[in-house]
Amino acid sequence: MPSPVKYALAGDIGGTNMRAALVDREGSFLARAVCATQPESGLNDAANRLTALFEEVVSRVPRDDVGGVVLSSAGPIDPETGMYDHPPNLPGWDGMTMKPGLTAALKLPVAIGHDATLGALAESRFGVGKGAQHLVYVTLSTGVGGGIIANGEMVTGAHGHAGEIGHLLVRPGGQSCNVGCDGCLEGIASGGGIARAAQAALAAGRASAMLEMAGGDAGAVTAQTVFEAAAEGDAAATEIVDVVIDAVAVGFANILNTLDPEYLVVGGAVTGSLQPYWDDLRARIEDKALPHFAGRVPLYVSPLGDDVSLVGAAALAFDIADATAV
Ligand SMILES: [Zn+2]
Repeated sequence: MPSPVKYALAGDIGGTNMRAALVDREGSFLARAVCATQPESGLNDAANRLTALFEEVVSRVPRDDVGGVVLSSAGPIDPETGMYDHPPNLPGWDGMTMKPGLTAALKLPVAIGHDATLGALAESRFGVGKGAQHLVYVTLSTGVGGGIIANGEMVTGAHGHAGEIGHLLVRPGGQSCNVGCDGCLEGIASGGGIARAAQAALAAGRASAMLEMAGGDAGAVTAQTVFEAAAEGDAAATEIVDVVIDAVAVGFANILNTLDPEYLVVGGAVTGSLQPYWDDLRARIEDKALPHFAGRVPLYVSPLGDDVSLVGAAALAFDIADATAV
């Protein structure tokens, strides 16, 4: 049964920033606060600063109206314990958890979720796939993350690591990601992967306007540089973008064939850069997916933007409050 709580606290920990928000049942933000994560200062220091953010946003409403806290975090993280497992963007936090400290400090129940899985939950509750029972969310950004909703539930896997769509092998033997899988989606189509592909082409002596666009410093070439050069017809950049579109199409066709979602929702900065190629991407997915997707590839751009995991965290907090209501 629904609980009487009106608000939830949502938090998000990324490699750069930590955010906290007070959210109502419609997914609207009543207050929000942000600070730098500074992972090098240690997990305990970050937990203290995050607690202060939560205290700031919750101060405007009676505490009895607040159901609980859900924290979205970059992973790998065990959602049960909140224990980090060698998180690449939070160095030094391996084997540590904020959950007990935050629970004690805030005097509210605290749950933890993987950021992209909460992103999928948000899209199925408040986004383009509102009401969907089967939805996959993919963020094409600095890295590539994914989350799965099946039969209306978050798919977390046996160890909390389900949805690692970034490591789908889409181009075996191709450029590797930071984890080391050769030719995974993240290795090819993340912002970092796209930049590295361009830098490798320049290092191999390939002539390209990208070098001049980056001030003559190949190391300064970014994914943005590649897309800008491709838009101006640069051959090397166009080839890289073509490989990216193909890799994304292979990955997305595999997702559609495996999970048959009503919505495949895509967000992140690389998604923005791919917009001029969207019809081409859709056609290539259709070409690679099973025939029953002909004419109905359910590809959508996320309307929730940077707030997606915070909205998902709030949705989960209300779910937990309602499930425990008596
Ligand atoms: Zn990988």
